[in-house]
Amino acid sequence: MIKLEDVTVIYNNKTIGIKDINLEIKKGEFVGIIGSSGGGKSTLLKTVNLLVKPVKGKVYINGKEITDLDIASLRKVRREMGFVFQDYNLVERASVLNNVLMGRLGYLSSFQSFFNLYKDSDYTLALQALEEVGLEDKIFVRADRLSGGQKQRVAIAKALCQQPKIILADEPVSNLDFKTGEIIMNYFKKINEKQKITIVINLHDVNLALKYCHRIIALSKGQLLFDKKTGEVDDEL
Ligand code: ADP
Ligand code: ADP
Repeated sequence: MIKLEDVTVIYNNKTIGIKDINLEIKKGEFVGIIGSSGGGKSTLLKTVNLLVKPVKGKVYINGKEITDLDIASLRKVRREMGFVFQDYNLVERASVLNNVLMGRLGYLSSFQSFFNLYKDSDYTLALQALEEVGLEDKIFVRADRLSGGQKQRVAIAKALCQQPKIILADEPVSNLDFKTGEIIMNYFKKINEKQKITIVINLHDVNLALKYCHRIIALSKGQLLFDKKTGEVDDEL
């Protein structure tokens, strides 16, 4: 499903983002990426959907190399990947519904929904996604009225509304308190188990990775420290 072959990313011709990374992630996996700040976690995730471009190596999605795709083809590939950010990345002044529809329709969706231009099928998908994260009673609430945990649930619904095969999450719980972080992790777990969506999640907190992820990839200074099933990593940490 996701394959990186000998991938190196270098910023500004000097700073190593990731170096010589080889890995393969199969459909339905729930993978945690760990490592200290600056280790390359964020760069790794951004490489999977080519938000950053490798200087060396190849990126494959569903068996197809995407490293050198033109922007139009890349957009199609990205549509099958949901991205969840640390800072939620919502339009604060838009409703929960509009934010979720944006995952599907792009940034026209406020305009489209204002004029009821979205299809019933889009609305149904948005509602289903919001039900999945328990926010179906908040659809007309503005995003800026929500707590951090609720905002992240909207962001997850927004990703789900794209009907993705893969969800990439970049430190999605780092801005939340521990209890709220666990709630968010449980939603990822449920989505992975129920919908078989492949999830790759960057986590600062190793214990959360050990508790929820099936496989853990550790990075240090842009390089692979280890890549193991969760049950096999305890002695390394
Ligand atoms: P992590 O997500 O584990 O904190 P990052 O992937 O953000 O690690 O960073 C890996 C390395 O790449 C760090 O040295 C960081 O400073 C550098 N880096 C990340 N993004 C950029 C950028 N846009 N420009 C220059 N250097 C960057
Ligand atoms: P993340 O939380 O995703 O690891 P960071 O806090 O490392 O992000 O960086 C925030 C933003 O600054 C990102 O867009 C990242 O690409 C960029 N960035 C990170 N390190 C550097 C750097 N050394 N020089 C320039 N930009 C950087």
